[in-house]
Amino acid sequence: MATEKLTSVDGEITKCDFEMDADLKSKKSGRVSLSRTKAVAVVVVFAAIVIMVGLLCFYETKRECDRKHAALMNDHDADDKGDINDMDNEGADRPPSTPQNRFLTYPPAEDDPGPWKGRLPTNVIPDSYDLYIKPYLNDEDVEGTNKRRFTFDGRVAIRIRCDNTTDEIVLHLSNLTVISITVVDAENGGGDNLYDSTSYESRYSFLRILLTKRLVQGRSYNVTLVYIGEIREEWDGLYRSSYIDDRGNLSWMAVTQFQPVSARHALPCFDEPIMKATFNVLIKHRTHMVALSNGREMDTIDHGDGWSSTRFETSPVMSTYLLALAVGVLDYREINTTNGIRLRTWSRPNAIDTTAFALESASSLMTHFEDYFSIPFQISKMDMLGVPDYGHGGMENWGLVTYPESGLFYDPDVDTRSSQESMLTIIAHEIAHQWFGNLVTMEWWDDLWLNEGFGTYFGYLGADALNPEMMLLETLIASNNHAVLISDALSTSHPIKVHVTSPSEIDELFDDISYIKGAAVLRMLHDMLGDDVFRRGMQGYLRTFQYSNANSDQLWDALTEADVGFGNIDVWQVMDTWILQMGYPLVNLTRLDETTISAVQQRYIVKSQVSDPRESPYGYVWSIYLTHTNNGSRNTESPPSVWIRDQEINEFSLADGVSVDDWYLANIHQFGFFRINYEPENWAKLIHQLNTNHEAIPVLNRAQLMEDSMNLALNGRLPFSTAFELTRYLRNEFNSAPWNAVLSYLIIFRDNLGATALQGPYEKYLRELTSRAYDELRLEIDTNQISLDKAKTRELIVPIACKVRNPECSRHALDLFEDFRTTYNLSDPSSNVLEVNSLETLLCTAIREGSYTEWDYLWSLYMDPRSSTTQTKMWITALACTIRPWQIQRLIEYPMQNPMTARQIGFVLTKVSITPVGRTLAWDYIRQNWDAIQDMYGGAYRWIILLLSTTSDFNTKAQLEELIAFANSRDLGFGATAIHRSIALTQLNIELFESIYPQVRAWLEAYDQTH
Ligand SMILES: [Zn+2]
Repeated sequence: MATEKLTSVDGEITKCDFEMDADLKSKKSGRVSLSRTKAVAVVVVFAAIVIMVGLLCFYETKRECDRKHAALMNDHDADDKGDINDMDNEGADRPPSTPQNRFLTYPPAEDDPGPWKGRLPTNVIPDSYDLYIKPYLNDEDVEGTNKRRFTFDGRVAIRIRCDNTTDEIVLHLSNLTVISITVVDAENGGGDNLYDSTSYESRYSFLRILLTKRLVQGRSYNVTLVYIGEIREEWDGLYRSSYIDDRGNLSWMAVTQFQPVSARHALPCFDEPIMKATFNVLIKHRTHMVALSNGREMDTIDHGDGWSSTRFETSPVMSTYLLALAVGVLDYREINTTNGIRLRTWSRPNAIDTTAFALESASSLMTHFEDYFSIPFQISKMDMLGVPDYGHGGMENWGLVTYPESGLFYDPDVDTRSSQESMLTIIAHEIAHQWFGNLVTMEWWDDLWLNEGFGTYFGYLGADALNPEMMLLETLIASNNHAVLISDALSTSHPIKVHVTSPSEIDELFDDISYIKGAAVLRMLHDMLGDDVFRRGMQGYLRTFQYSNANSDQLWDALTEADVGFGNIDVWQVMDTWILQMGYPLVNLTRLDETTISAVQQRYIVKSQVSDPRESPYGYVWSIYLTHTNNGSRNTESPPSVWIRDQEINEFSLADGVSVDDWYLANIHQFGFFRINYEPENWAKLIHQLNTNHEAIPVLNRAQLMEDSMNLALNGRLPFSTAFELTRYLRNEFNSAPWNAVLSYLIIFRDNLGATALQGPYEKYLRELTSRAYDELRLEIDTNQISLDKAKTRELIVPIACKVRNPECSRHALDLFEDFRTTYNLSDPSSNVLEVNSLETLLCTAIREGSYTEWDYLWSLYMDPRSSTTQTKMWITALACTIRPWQIQRLIEYPMQNPMTARQIGFVLTKVSITPVGRTLAWDYIRQNWDAIQDMYGGAYRWIILLLSTTSDFNTKAQLEELIAFANSRDLGFGATAIHRSIALTQLNIELFESIYPQVRAWLEAYDQTH
């Protein structure tokens, strides 16, 4: 899914709100997944609703309750009878004309002390669903009826097959009110209703339908449920979203998000990925709205009363989580792909023109994947819908992919190049899912990575194949893979494949391990097998398991078979070491003589967690495919390789002709998901090479050297002087990948040195590193006049050069700000005369380096009610760059004194925390207003983000004591977890600071004396 934008792969920032969570989420995969907190909240809300319904009935007499239910049921039938009957296909059952069941509500079950056993029994298997949905989005939809707004009427007829005789049917249902149930023989012209009674297990969302007699093995039955549901506020199930139309009116839409376990909020169903079936969908909607679903629309009938019904073609055989519905006032753009698929982008009407880039990109990608996998797309149309209020990065519903608006809208006058790149990778991810995930689905959620790792890897491969100039794979490695190398070295990580036992655990799997590490191990496997074998193996896997499910073992079998007669690699034996144990190895290399290298692997884990006692089925030993080259051969296209499969000392030989003075290099192009450490002499040779001609080393290896050395130094495995010596060549580096790899480390050091005497010398060093690049890529030039790679490098270097006060940057920023101030028209964002990609850096620098003129102007824009949400976020981000305490205070206090939402307040506080003085003031403010913020703010998840921002640079014992004293002084409520996490991080910072400070000082002093 989409929760899909991890680091810009999957999660996403909605443009419509101050979504402070999104920045953090975007560092996860693109799922675009719900946070655990969100999942908990969903459970709580659901439980509350069930209890509420139960209590309502409890306090009424049964007769009254039945009467109300009957009234609802009768009204429902009267209203929708025609549609319901229309829906019945040949052979499907028809409900009895007089409903026989009483209205059923399901109070929560008693706590079950037994082990979680929430898998559906397999006595009956669904074949097809006939689904009817009628949503009530607006007041006028329910006028004169006893319906409630934001509810929907539903009816589902499920044709099931009995595989084992049984006297009950168990399916999923959540937060629905059932009006009637019938179970009839599908092959016998209907016959008696076999329904007897129900019980409900809230823990598993199981509706247990008890029958009057046993079902016969091998026969088919029709199970029909008529029900009422809620169009939810939460971003799952059938939920509501809204936008402001051109006339200033709020326009509502209903849309679905079913992955992973929320289809049950919209229809009773067998809500497990392996329970695949076909879906016939009929949606009754207001005539001025359109309805969308997975299949192509067959016909729309106008009933003449303001309502219409749209019927859709039968879906392919698919899992419930891929079913999708949408209803709203929407417009579209359409093209046909080269292979004749009708492709449409859908959005609110006033934004549809901004979907042109998405439409063109998706069209190319659809054809690309059809060719690459050699399997045509399985539906005659593909719709891509931009949803205004959206909690994920994208969702791959088969034939109806949903995106946040930022995932579908691109306006070159307003949106940055990086947002366009991010959009492209998300679209590619979702389209790749149409094969990996939709056509072949993981058997169970413990193999989620089969969906998400593939979606991520093939998404990048596809986007890269069509746009090689964007160098997207370099971004994947230097940004995303490196981030996972950091998080996967913590004892809190988990294996790629994890046994999951509950919905909340499923939810937690939508993380960087499933998405990014999943993609990383696939890239490693791709390199190991070679492109031909890998591609053939994947095609075979897709064909073998199409319209079905598969697990990791079956994938390994397919790839092993494809490699017979080529590398003959036992893929199963190699890859299980990568997916069934968490973490990854460090390979320590030492040169024994001119040509011989010894290699030893060990688990790489951060210094403070080396005592992690958890066991691994493979003893933290991996099957490592190690490629290598050296300065003599410089063979980087088909480098020699060696297997390292145990913890013993492995020796291998460098190529003939290598001299003792030559450097050697391992893990060429960084295909392997592990780190390398060398003996000091080889590090010195590599440093020398970088400083003389860095292009002799492949760019992804330069990025790897940067990242590995910094991380090894932080964990006490390499002297800091080595890591810093490696960075010196960066003054000549114009490629983005090495900068991407090292920048976060350089910034962390800067923040931690902020209150010390080293800040000046350190910033001077950073100014020197970036000065040459700044001169060429400076703030004032137009990105369109330089190559794409340099544009990417510029986005990394210019902000840091300006932050460490490159004097040219300050001058450019103030000059350009004046141009901006005198020409900008708030009502017309395209009036911005500045280059959009550097606008944020420019405004920030002008505020920091400027006078009251700059501040007052941006403050006036912030106060102007004509500022859009996107503009307001831009003004706050820039204003937060000030170093004047009173201005920061003004920025902090304004939202608290005005009716702004918790998200907006959180956004301001986190933005203010980018400067040391801002962090101090934000932390003071949070402490003093803890209760007030808590009242608005709620959940622990937001507190964690907020406190991580404001206390991230705490690294003194005094600050630690302050945190502890505060934690002990009061009831912390939702903020308790956040405070304790900040305390733990401060302790780590202190430890780190004490160990690195003397080393950094020694290196800087030595550097200073020689420069
Ligand atoms: Zn995905």
